[in-house]
Amino acid sequence: MGTKSCPFCAEDVLEEAIKCKHCGSMLDGSAAQQNEAPVASQPKKGKTPTCQHCDGEMAKKTKAKHSRLLVLFLGVVGIILIVTVVAWFIGLPMVLIAFIMLFGTKKFWKCKNCGAVLERA
Ligand SMILES: [Zn+2]
Ligand SMILES: [Zn+2]
Repeated sequence: MGTKSCPFCAEDVLEEAIKCKHCGSMLDGSAAQQNEAPVASQPKKGKTPTCQHCDGEMAKKTKAKHSRLLVLFLGVVGIILIVTVVAWFIGLPMVLIAFIMLFGTKKFWKCKNCGAVLERA
């Protein structure tokens, strides 16, 4: 088996190798395509950004902005306060706040490869 030198790091690799064992570059030509890919930059509106850590594909994700436990706590305590009429004027806004928090979601990008998270507007 012959060897050739890696065009990226100049180390000797096997002729049949498709990936350099020294620097991890693809030797089958796909590296050239990789270089043409746009460099990871600030995400543009409506465009999927690439991961700044591994260049992986990012996926759109949403997450509850507030802890469900906190929302539940506010709601339950608020309802108890209203029902017992002791402090319904405190309980009512608590339930309202819990209700609003329930619909608050945080949008972010998550890398499918390494799990890195990028906030999105
Ligand atoms: Zn190499
Ligand atoms: Zn990544």
